[in-house]
Amino acid sequence: MATTTAPVQLESSVTEFLRIPRKMLIGGNWVEAVSGKTFESYDPSTGEVLARVAEGAGEDIDLAVKAARAAFEKGEWAKISPAQRGKLLWKLADLIDQHTEELAQLETLDNGKPIMTSRKGDIPAVSDMFRHYAGWTDKISGSTLPLSAPEPDKFFAYTRREPVGVVGQIIPWNYPLVMASWKLAPALASGCTVVLKPAEQTPLTALRLGELILEAGFPDGVVNIVPGFGETAGAALAAHPDVDKIAFTGSTEVGRLIAKAATANLKKVSLELGGKSPNVVFADADLERAIPGSAAAIFYNQGQSCTAGSRLFVQKSVFDRVIDGVAEQTKKFKLGPGIDPASNQGPVVSKEQLERVCGYLDSGRRDGAKAVVGGRKLDRPGYFVEPTVLVDVNPEMKVVREEIFGPVVTAIPFDSPDDVLSFANDTAYGLASAVWTRDISKAHQLAAKLKAGTVWINCYNVFDPVLPFGGYKQSGWGREMGFDAIELYTEVKSVCARI
Ligand code: NAP
Ligand code: MG
Repeated sequence: MATTTAPVQLESSVTEFLRIPRKMLIGGNWVEAVSGKTFESYDPSTGEVLARVAEGAGEDIDLAVKAARAAFEKGEWAKISPAQRGKLLWKLADLIDQHTEELAQLETLDNGKPIMTSRKGDIPAVSDMFRHYAGWTDKISGSTLPLSAPEPDKFFAYTRREPVGVVGQIIPWNYPLVMASWKLAPALASGCTVVLKPAEQTPLTALRLGELILEAGFPDGVVNIVPGFGETAGAALAAHPDVDKIAFTGSTEVGRLIAKAATANLKKVSLELGGKSPNVVFADADLERAIPGSAAAIFYNQGQSCTAGSRLFVQKSVFDRVIDGVAEQTKKFKLGPGIDPASNQGPVVSKEQLERVCGYLDSGRRDGAKAVVGGRKLDRPGYFVEPTVLVDVNPEMKVVREEIFGPVVTAIPFDSPDDVLSFANDTAYGLASAVWTRDISKAHQLAAKLKAGTVWINCYNVFDPVLPFGGYKQSGWGREMGFDAIELYTEVKSVCARI
């Protein structure tokens, strides 16, 4: 029987996929960029080129939007029943399950994350998301409304919930296929058509997904996938006058650019942006769970999660114990190429990201922070940086205020629930938060006062398709998952008839 540390045998479909330059999906066809240009995607564990991909830009986005518009207005998709849309989504989920290993290998090679994470975490979450939304297609309904106009019995009024139209979706590199599924599944369930731009660092699984979308039988033009750079392809999509809605996940900085670009035609906008999430450990918590939970809160996915528990607040009486415990957890990590099943921590995604994280480590050192563990990049090929716990920090430091998006946590002691609440909310962000305590009243009182879209109690990073997800403050606009995401991709029409 294969053990979990048996070397990964790359599937022949993976080597074949990587061998030839990948094209983009427009109107059901795999095409080269109009410019003929391609760009390289890298393996972050070596820094070497992994694959070449068509480099979409404004003119390709134009063609993709035209294809999406045609499919939305008059293609087969416009007439398909809700149940049939559900069947297509379910079929796609089955195809994803049938190709779990192949997709997991591609994801790990392109992004760097450990293969077990791709196999057991990311890819199953992708098919789950498509199945969740397969169940929504025939439950997206309006209602009948009793009017109070004169002669109310002479009126029949109702609402219709209709697809918003052509949707542009721009996604990041930290959970490439998961982010594609969070965007595509509700849009397709709602009856929209889509132009998706994956991140330049990780375009491969989205392109493989495009092949499975065609295999599942989605009509041509319903999903178009245009890899390319943010400043060209992404910006063109956000500004496009014939796109009805733009959905974006990524940095707060780019989120602002998207919101501005969308103003010309006032397309609908939803944004899932950065975070600097507080993770609060009280002395009365079950520390056997809180310590590994707090380590996982920051170090999962090499710290490259928008929800990462990057500000750890620990009640004074247990501060040393918790910090030592979290530092001890990092000794269980084996940093190495994600494709080696013995590694449980991979590289960060890119050279830029490595430099960014190391820049923050330098800034922390300059400001007087001390690394209890970690603090350096590894002297080896690829983009490896040690999991790092910083103490002796204060709320003014850049490492405490800004999103590092790497395996770096800052730890601060606190006295009382009131103190920690003001620390926790002292941020421009408001994506996630967590509280570890055995006192349920304290937990729920804090949950009500934390300014964050998600509060986890005695757990961290638990996601589910039914749990709305999104940010307060500068962490975004709107909520994804469940019916909240259907609302993002639909318009409500009131129909009022005098009868
Ligand atoms: P980013 O620049 O915000 O990239 C996210 C997506 O937006 C990518 O597809 C990107 O394309 C695209 N994009 C970039 N500039 C654009 C523009 N002007 N118009 C339209 N689309 C544009 O994020 P990043 O540079 O990859 O990472 C930087 C930081 O963002 C991270 O360190 C982290 O703080 C944050 N981040 C947050 C999340 C999250 O889930 N909240 C995810 C990733 C990153 P390209 O890939 O071609 O640039
Ligand atoms: Mg890559």
